[in-house]
Amino acid sequence: MARIGFIGVGNMGGPMAANLIKAGHTVTAFDLSATAVDAAVSAGCSRADSAAACAKGQDIVITMLPAGPHVRAVYGAKGEQGSVIDSVDPGTLLIDCSTIDVASARTVAGNAEACGLEMVEAPVTGGVPGAVAGTLTMIVGGPAAAFEKAKPYLEIVGGKVVHCGEAGAGQAVKICNNMMLAINMIGVAEGMSLIRGLGIDPSVLAEVSTAGSGNSWALTNYNPEPGLTEGAPANNGYKPGFAGAMMAKDLGLAVGAGVETGVPLALGSAAAQMFQLYCAGGMAGDDMSGIIRMLKSK
Ligand code: NAD
Repeated sequence: MARIGFIGVGNMGGPMAANLIKAGHTVTAFDLSATAVDAAVSAGCSRADSAAACAKGQDIVITMLPAGPHVRAVYGAKGEQGSVIDSVDPGTLLIDCSTIDVASARTVAGNAEACGLEMVEAPVTGGVPGAVAGTLTMIVGGPAAAFEKAKPYLEIVGGKVVHCGEAGAGQAVKICNNMMLAINMIGVAEGMSLIRGLGIDPSVLAEVSTAGSGNSWALTNYNPEPGLTEGAPANNGYKPGFAGAMMAKDLGLAVGAGVETGVPLALGSAAAQMFQLYCAGGMAGDDMSGIIRMLKSK
């Protein structure tokens, strides 16, 4: 069984760490939020007081942090006191599961490689329900040898593990996935709002479209209309879940990549603006499916 340091035990990292414990591994948790660490300790993790203490003496370090700046700061580089890369033992495998920009992923992977450390990025899709159930899809980028070492652990937290290519490839696939999710979610939210506006129960549209051509993951597994999907954040006042701020961040990454590559993203850009409005409206911390509240007429 492996010794695992887990840094960032929030909405996603918390249940992922709990699944590694259930599989028999020894997990030490660190997070800037004491509440998040308390919850991880209740699930069977040990507590670390810093990222460096969490990383030292482990076979594997896993991170699940908000965005690129957090990941760059936590991993750091050789000689940066308190950073993960400076604190781990030789031979420790590094796995970053956060969704971040491709450039940050490549920078951190390069800093790890410069110290002789193996690293993969493994952003995830499947939401908090997938993290709890251990059925996430793991979207991996990094060298093939590091991927093979990480795979058995990624299979504990995920139902499907895909090696997309070298460092940065996993993040590239992830931001495209989330752009499609955001567009789908807004589509489902508009459909649910329109059917209600037409005086028909949204559950009827859900029943027809889940079996029809309007189907999507957002509709089947994550309906923004309360009461239509078991376990969906909509049933709990849109908390907890995939925060609107996180979706706005991912859409910003996608739109930036579209500008860089010259690929037109008409709906991706519109979705980015809608999620900016969602956050500006005070809902940055609510699940992204709560965007339906901006679309309801009655
Ligand atoms: P979260 O805010 O619930 O968790 C992130 C945790 O990181 C927080 O507990 C925070 O305190 C901690 N943190 C921040 N900076 C830190 C630091 N320097 N050291 C230690 N801990 C630090 O967010 P989340 O929903 O768990 O998302 C985490 C990542 O997963 C994001 O990159 C997000 O885009 C991605 N993601 C989330 C979902 C989802 O449904 N929530 C789905 C797929 C991917």
